[in-house]
Formats: sequence, structure tokens, C-alpha cells
Amino acid sequence: MAKKVAIIGGGWIGLQVAMNLEKADPKGEAVEVTIFDAKKHFYNNVAGLRLCVEPEFIVKAVVPRDQALKRSKIIQAEVETIIPDGPALKLKARDEAIPADFIVLATGTRYPFPGKVPWWLGHMAAGRMYQKIRDRISRAKKIVIVGGGPTGVELAGELCEFFPEISTTLVHSGDRLMHTYHGVGKDQVLKTTTTDKIQARIEKMGCNVVLNERIVIDSGGKTGLAAGEGDGVDDSSMAAKETETFMQDRTEDLKAESGRTFPADLVFYCTGTTANSDVYTNVFKVGEGNRVACDEYLRCRLADDSGSAPAVYAAGDCCLSKFIDGQHTGKS
Ligand SMILES: Cc1cc2nc3c(=O)[nH]c(=O)nc-3n(C[C@H](O)[C@H](O)[C@H](O)COP(=O)(O)OP(=O)(O)OC[C@H]3O[C@@H](n4cnc5c(N)ncnc54)[C@H](O)[C@@H]3O)c2cc1C
Repeated sequence: MAKKVAIIGGGWIGLQVAMNLEKADPKGEAVEVTIFDAKKHFYNNVAGLRLCVEPEFIVKAVVPRDQALKRSKIIQAEVETIIPDGPALKLKARDEAIPADFIVLATGTRYPFPGKVPWWLGHMAAGRMYQKIRDRISRAKKIVIVGGGPTGVELAGELCEFFPEISTTLVHSGDRLMHTYHGVGKDQVLKTTTTDKIQARIEKMGCNVVLNERIVIDSGGKTGLAAGEGDGVDDSSMAAKETETFMQDRTEDLKAESGRTFPADLVFYCTGTTANSDVYTNVFKVGEGNRVACDEYLRCRLADDSGSAPAVYAAGDCCLSKFIDGQHTGKS
């Protein structure tokens, strides 16, 4: 009988796991795959920052999952928790547990819109939010991006390419851009020459890069999309509030901890992701960034440290594969 595989999260990794299983079992005799995701469609968040300058491409960023899958079932539902013995999963607001032979946790991370789209925001509303962001950018004279990680750097590139007339400044607290990826060793993937090249490239595009300055996050000025810009999206909606944490209208200069000030009428805060950990917290061991700790086969380690759940795996952004003594242990 075919083994039941439940994948929690149909983002990049969950979808890929399902596609690989279908490929490995072309007749569907060995596995029966079900993806559970709170979002109706797969949303290609890698396009999220480009959509802030080219909102019309929303149609390419939203992909119905059944276009990528042949046989796997897709259930739109939020998973509440995992029962490691069995194993089984429970959906929100439902009592019965759904059993499986294997569970794959692929719950990923969340990031303020427009980096990622929250499950409750439909793609039409998302498209209108992108248009609003673009309209707001086009009226700005001085933009500051806070945070020189991958998102800040990418956004700086997009703004400088599409709006070269706007003064764009990227302020980063590290001594080089994307500094957490820089260095030598297993975790560090960027060489000094690479981070230097990244900086030179965006400076050539017109971005003013400031290193070693940490911006004080305050409420200085209005936040989010100004009320009254209405185009169908209510500014008091959750969607608009989610945007506020990413984009801020300013009437006052930004201040760094050093006392240095940065004039801006629009600010973007690109300061990191949060793991979607609600499903596994209390059940499995959680490590750095609230990611689920795994053994060398990517099986989830039990919260009481008594070993790994034999049939529950994790993959993608929610998975911490370097838990033991800070070493990478994931082998698959
Ligand atoms: C702005 C931005 C730009 C990026 N650009 C790049 C890039 O250019 N290249 C690159 O390699 N990476 C990029 N990344 C990183 C990339 O997006 C992630 O590495 C990737 O999305 C991780 O995939 P995932 O499947 O692990 O998680 P996610 O894509 O986060 O998917 C997780 C899925 O799980 C679902 N989910 C979560 N909890 C539950 C639950 N309880 N019940 C049901 N469903 C649930 C969510 O709805 C979501 O669909 C970027 C990230 C951001 C924010």
C-alpha cells in the first residue's frame, strides 16, 4: 500500500519535495502525497521586491500549485500542531488528527509584505498593495533602506534601476554588506571579493552605502501608506498594517545610534525573517531563529531531547540543520 506523506507548507521546499516524490514514483504506487498550506496559491516571493517597482508582474508571481503537480493532493488549511508518535497532524479548528506515514515540515518563514504575502491577503489585494507602494516610491525624494542583508541590497538595486532620480541610501550596521554570509567556513558563503563587488555594483547604480551605522527604530513621522490614498485597499486593513512594518513615511530625519542623522521621506526596514514555528514549538527542539533542530537525516529532534521523531522531517527555511555543537549535520 502507498505510504502517506503529509507536507506542511507548499512554498519553495514543500512544492519541491512533492515534485521530487512524484518523479521518483511515476506511477503513484509507493507514495500518496498531500500538501497542507494556509495559502491558496504558491506565491513566488523571490519576485516580491521587483513587484514594488513593476506591480503588473503580480500575475507571474502567483502560481496555482496544481500547475506544478500531477497527483499530489492540496489542502488549503492551517496546520495547528504535529503529533510525533504515529505521526499525525491537527488542523486549526478541527478536532480529529490526520495520520500519515511521514510528515515533512516546510513551514518556512514570514516577512512583512511585500517580502512575503501573508496567507490572508488575496493576490488581487496584493496587486493593489504593490501598486500603492510603487506610487509612494515614485513620489519620494530621499529613500533610506535600513539593513544591508540580501533583501536590503536587492531592494536598493531595484530602486536605483527604476528610480535613478531618487536619492537612495542603504544603511547597514555591519562592516560589510551581507556580513552574516561573509567569511570562511561552512556557514559563510560569500568571499570578501564578492561582498566588495556587490557594494561596488549598487554604488555604481547610484546607491549611497553607509556601513557601521545602526539606525534607531522609532515612530518618527507617519507610518505605512498614508490614509486617503485609497484605491480599494482599506488603509486600516491587516494588509496595510503589515506593510507599515516594512515601509514608513517620514517627516523627521532618521537617527543612528552614533548620533548621525539621515534625511528621508520614505524608509524601508529590511531587517530579517521570522520562522513559522507555531506548528512545532513545544513538540520539537527549537534552535537559532526559532528553526526546528534536526539530526543528520533531517529528522526533527524531540523537545525533551530524547532523540528524533522517526518519521517527521524538516526542510527549507524552517529547518536548522546545524544544531549539534554549531556544526552542520543535515545530510539529505
Ligand atoms: C524579499 C525576499 C527575496 C528573496 N529572494 C531570494 C532569491 O532571490 N533567491 C533565493 O534563493 N531565495 C530568496 N529568498 C529566500 C526564499 O524566499 C526562501 O529561502 C524560500 O521561500 C524558502 O522556502 P520554504 O519552502 O522553506 O518556505 P516558504 O517559502 O516560506 O514557504 C512556507 C509555506 O508554508 C506555509 N505555512 C506556514 N505555516 C503553516 C501552517 N501552520 N499551516 C499551513 N501552511 C503553513 C506558508 O503559507 C508558506 O506557503 C528571498 C526571500 C525574501 C523575503
